[in-house]
Amino acid sequence: MLALKQKEFNEAMLKFHSNKYYQLTYKVVSIINVSLELVLLYILFTLSVPYLWIVPIVFISYFIADFINGLVHLYMDNNDSYNSFYGPFVSSFHLHHNTQRYKDKNIFLVYFDESGTKFWLIPYLTMVLIVSFTEINHIVLSGMILVGILSSVAEVSHYLCHNSKSKFVKLLQSIGLLLSMKHHEKHHNDDNTGYAFLNGMSDKLIDRIAKKFYKGYKYNSDKHYEKYEGAGTLNRD
Ligand SMILES: [Zn+2]
Ligand SMILES: [Zn+2]
Repeated sequence: MLALKQKEFNEAMLKFHSNKYYQLTYKVVSIINVSLELVLLYILFTLSVPYLWIVPIVFISYFIADFINGLVHLYMDNNDSYNSFYGPFVSSFHLHHNTQRYKDKNIFLVYFDESGTKFWLIPYLTMVLIVSFTEINHIVLSGMILVGILSSVAEVSHYLCHNSKSKFVKLLQSIGLLLSMKHHEKHHNDDNTGYAFLNGMSDKLIDRIAKKFYKGYKYNSDKHYEKYEGAGTLNRD
């Protein structure tokens, strides 16, 4: 069974690197997500939200974004459908467990590139844009917009957690606005834990869901790339 999964994994990675369709899909998803987020950011600044509500909205949006993205991460880490049409996206995703440092690049490029892995964000942002034209309460709408944008920010937060040595980033991590390595390392070192990656505030809840519904990655999906030569390099370019 393990040998079969390892073979399927390697075949999926071969497809991922040999067929331009996969990279192109990431680019198209990035363009759609970032464009929708820019339009929604503009709408956010036109909304009338009482000042007293700003901190609660940001806090709740942070929690929801951390939680939803953590759940998607949980689902993906425990997915081994390498034979499906989306299999190459799944296999390339799994390599993040073996990556301690990413290729250094501009933070906006990280934001753009990593937004391309978030397929589920397209229907979410489209839905938020549609409801923004209705009579929806501005407090609720601003929260929905923030959840969308923070979902892309979460990817940047994870990247900085691995790559940044900046004092400012360390400050943001220490006050809990970004993901710290102290919190995140358990995801890489332990099993079936620490899936949240905006700042990790929802991990206690996600950990409980993970324990109840999933077997974890250390003895499953992590084993599938053991025979893959490119393991240890997460290279989407
Ligand atoms: Zn993971
Ligand atoms: Zn990581």
